[in-house]
Amino acid sequence: MNINNNQLWVKVIKKVRAWARLNSIWAVHFNSGSCNGCDIEILATLTPRYDVERFGIKLEGSPRHADILIVTGPVTRQARERLLRTYEQMPEPKFVVSVGSCSVSGGVFHGCYNVGGSVDEVIPVDVFIPGCPPRPEAIIDGIIQLLTHLKDGNPRPARKEQIIERGVA
Ligand code: SF4
Repeated sequence: MNINNNQLWVKVIKKVRAWARLNSIWAVHFNSGSCNGCDIEILATLTPRYDVERFGIKLEGSPRHADILIVTGPVTRQARERLLRTYEQMPEPKFVVSVGSCSVSGGVFHGCYNVGGSVDEVIPVDVFIPGCPPRPEAIIDGIIQLLTHLKDGNPRPARKEQIIERGVA
């Protein structure tokens, strides 16, 4: 009887935690070498015109309090260690959204002497949002994809190869 009660409580607490997480995602933004085009679109997404806060998503200054890491730009050799450190400081469970063609594949900076590669070559990525730069609607769509998949218990919505095959990165 006690075991059943305990199992029930664990189930309820898990559900409440998942519900709370899905409705109050805190995001930290990291520019790993972007030209700032993608960053401006992220700002537009967060501000009242596109208002991503209506989904409970808010920008957080510290990676230690963030659930998702939004990365823009290719990863330059200078930014690589900082990106890794930022990711490691985030508590589990954590998710990464790669915004812009440069972060997906290196984009126009691919092969530059100072660029190490794409974001998923450094940290695991959950959602890829291609575009140069992607519009706020695309960024919102990517975040909603992540939330939907988290709800279904599958945190890896799209594979990078699928995006590159479609010729959008
Ligand atoms: S994807 Fe385009 S806008 Fe974004 S960082 Fe690369 S060049 Fe700039």
